Amino acid sequence: MGLQFAAARAVSAVSTWGLKHVFHRPAANFPGKIALYADPRVIADLAPRLQKGSVCVVGTNGKTTVTNLLADALETAGQRVVCNRTGANLDSGVATALLHAKQADWGVFESDELWLAKTLPQLQATYVVLLNLFRDQLDRMGEISRIQDSIVGALAQSPNTVLLYNADDPLCAAIADRAEVRTVGFGIDEDMGLPQNTVADAQMCQKCSGMFEYEYRQYGQLGSYRCPSCGFARPALDYAVQDVRLQADGLSFALRGPGPEEADRGDAQKVRAPFNGAYMVYNLAAVGAAADLLGCPPPALQRAIDAFDPQNGRLQTFDLDGRRVLLNLAKNPTGFNQNLKIVAQDPGRKVVAFFINDKVADGCDVSWLWDIDFEELCASGELAVLAGGLRGRDMQVRLKYAGIQADVVADADDLLARIDVLPRDVNAYLIANYTALPGLQDALNRRAREGSASGAAGASAPQLRQPCVRAEDARASGHPGDSDADASGAAGEAPLVIAHLYPDLLNLYGDGGNVKVLERRARERGIPVEVRRVNHGEHVDLAGGDLGFLGGGPDREQRLASVELMRMRDDLKAYVEAGGVMLAICGGYQILGYEWLLGDEVVKGLGIVDMTTERPGTSADRLIDNIVLRSPSVEAPIVGYENHAGRTHLGAGVQPFGEVVSSAGHGNNDDDRLDGVRYKNVIGTYLHGPLLAKNPGVADDVLARALDRRALRV
Ligand code: GLN
Repeated sequence: MGLQFAAARAVSAVSTWGLKHVFHRPAANFPGKIALYADPRVIADLAPRLQKGSVCVVGTNGKTTVTNLLADALETAGQRVVCNRTGANLDSGVATALLHAKQADWGVFESDELWLAKTLPQLQATYVVLLNLFRDQLDRMGEISRIQDSIVGALAQSPNTVLLYNADDPLCAAIADRAEVRTVGFGIDEDMGLPQNTVADAQMCQKCSGMFEYEYRQYGQLGSYRCPSCGFARPALDYAVQDVRLQADGLSFALRGPGPEEADRGDAQKVRAPFNGAYMVYNLAAVGAAADLLGCPPPALQRAIDAFDPQNGRLQTFDLDGRRVLLNLAKNPTGFNQNLKIVAQDPGRKVVAFFINDKVADGCDVSWLWDIDFEELCASGELAVLAGGLRGRDMQVRLKYAGIQADVVADADDLLARIDVLPRDVNAYLIANYTALPGLQDALNRRAREGSASGAAGASAPQLRQPCVRAEDARASGHPGDSDADASGAAGEAPLVIAHLYPDLLNLYGDGGNVKVLERRARERGIPVEVRRVNHGEHVDLAGGDLGFLGGGPDREQRLASVELMRMRDDLKAYVEAGGVMLAICGGYQILGYEWLLGDEVVKGLGIVDMTTERPGTSADRLIDNIVLRSPSVEAPIVGYENHAGRTHLGAGVQPFGEVVSSAGHGNNDDDRLDGVRYKNVIGTYLHGPLLAKNPGVADDVLARALDRRALRV
């Protein structure tokens, strides 16, 4: 035990004392952080305190819940456990938990996906539990493949670790396939029969780039998948969930693990939980499988579930003078969509509030709000909707385009004051992302302790109503309308035809929101619209359309989309040359040029616009930031967000979409302070976000061009 380690322990002890007694703050991170400065190997030095071993829990959604429940199950079984229970999941959080611990049997640690590469080599954990991978904080993570590479790299440095992974998630199965460690898969061995959402993260096989076929899909990319081209399929399940029952007041299932003989299945373990939501089946399956591997008897797991009272804002319920309030975290489209399903299961009147921040820990880019199916709230009966947080207004705009009128609240107290004046039988659902959650939780705890919310007397009651106003009615009343009205407008008027090209592949940054915005703005002006979604394997005759839209995508999906587009290259070129309107974002924009680079591979582009895209580094070397442009197309500055590895260079004389006028942001490349392209009626740009929601002037410019095109076409 060296001097460095002794110094690390000393500084961490002093800082823990200071934080607790002087600043009255929880010491979940800081002591570990400074200990790591003093001794970068402090985790390895402390790991021997864990006599039986340790478990790292990683995955986009469910880490905190799974970590806490697994720790509870072990403790219920009489084990001594060290755990970073509050979700401090960087190496500093793990180091802090270890520094604060005495001798223990097991360490159970939640770990951030990218930080596993720091923690695992030191900890040499017995198990890594990999729950799922969904898009989340892409401004920090880049594309999901970067996280996969990082987890594979972490496991390579801990060769005796066993990987327990969600085999229903092809992104996790691809990691298990690559990692050179022993693997154990869990999954749900039957179709839960859930309705599907619009955007799923991985439709493609990562071994051969074919499109998966599903025997059944649970949600997102999770399910029983198979690639028809190379045969990569969901691996056989070592732990299989069966007999799932999902009800409004709870869920149950049977978990069958491996039996004593290789070919056997063990006895089914019945699991019951008072939680709502299909994603909790996966979380509990992960806990059940891990607990079994760790030798924890089934009754201990069930007792831990029965006693589980998270108190951490995840599915936390409050009783405010007889009103039931559910608080939950949602920080990415998949998690959010699951939350909306929980709301929809409640048949009564309810108030729903969405609190969204864009701090570094949340991801500074909120384009993901456009990948959530808020439109589903339209089937939720009588409802009041409120929006808050630093990005409450972005949320309000997103909801408006879903046809839902939401009031913006100033803060958590304002929210609770407004909810307080609603009848008590109106349940409340408060959904917040990462840094927005603690403020709401504090306010709820205060309110539960102190009685009525401050300012309740003067608060205006949110209006309970059928949430979605139809586009046609909105037009008459000035309210936002819905998007599923039929295409017919004034008698006989031909619809404006929008072709959304390969939304199943190019959908990374809420780009589909651009189509929603165009459709809504047209409809509310009485213009009939027809949106044709052209999925992989389908073809479209653009000659019969007025506007083609291409979104951005991860490298692999972008490559497949470009293969599809190359098949109709001549038609596309003819369409553009004849004045056809095209809006292309990020990856879709790159494909318009002569070539673009995927790693070292040169991919041939459509060559419709004189430009090329290259890559100076890896996909991790990205241009990511807020960005503001000036463009001759519109008067107001154009605001957006960019996140791309490709650097695009325009040919001589080719017009950019705009000039970068913000100090932040890059645009096409590292050099010329230009973004995008304008060529005939084509606009290409790196601004996602979606561009048109933030810049209605650009939306109307694009619409006006498309209407001119329709006038010539019909
Ligand atoms: N995959 C491409 C890149 O990284 C495009 C990314 C995007 O669409 N934002 O350059």
